[in-house]
Amino acid sequence: MAAMEYKTVYLGLGSNLGDRKDNLEKAIDYLSQRIRITMRSSIYDTEAMENREQPRFLNMVCQAKTIVKPQDLLVLAKAVERKMGRQPSSHNAPRTIDIDILLYGDEVIDTPELTVPHSSLPNRAFALVPLAEIVPNLVHPVSKKTVDSMLKDLDQGIQGIMKINCD
Ligand code: ADP
Ligand code: MG
Repeated sequence: MAAMEYKTVYLGLGSNLGDRKDNLEKAIDYLSQRIRITMRSSIYDTEAMENREQPRFLNMVCQAKTIVKPQDLLVLAKAVERKMGRQPSSHNAPRTIDIDILLYGDEVIDTPELTVPHSSLPNRAFALVPLAEIVPNLVHPVSKKTVDSMLKDLDQGIQGIMKINCD
């Protein structure tokens, strides 16, 4: 039997409804039942990017090591979102939790339900800032840019992203 292949994956978590910090913690607890979380960034308070009328988000990034395949990881992410009461509403509506697969090893996936690396990663300060905190030199498998260089190349810069104190 072939050895099981552990991949290093990065998940982006966000919440802008209810007790946002508790929502992030609960999501990590649920995810931990299926995947091994090996690193987590600080939590950042961020401006809602695509719709400024929305409440601010808390965002963070987790690294995990897992043998769960990409499609199954998406199923897991959606199951946690559902369990936590995220309503299936429009893509810009406030949500208790949003879980995005940012990177899955150096795999490149382009299907109707799953795009990896996440297509918006290079444009999203709220994902790049926490990602750069834990893996600044990680290389995007398509553009070959490091997380740090994607961050430097952001058109809007990193305004509106504030690290919160968590002690
Ligand atoms: P967003 O995260 O952009 O605000 P949603 O969370 O509503 O939007 O996701 C919409 C759809 O995006 C999901 O149903 C999922 O199938 C798809 N999707 C494609 N690629 C990814 C990815 N890398 N991670 C998470 N969802 C993804
Ligand atoms: Mg999402």
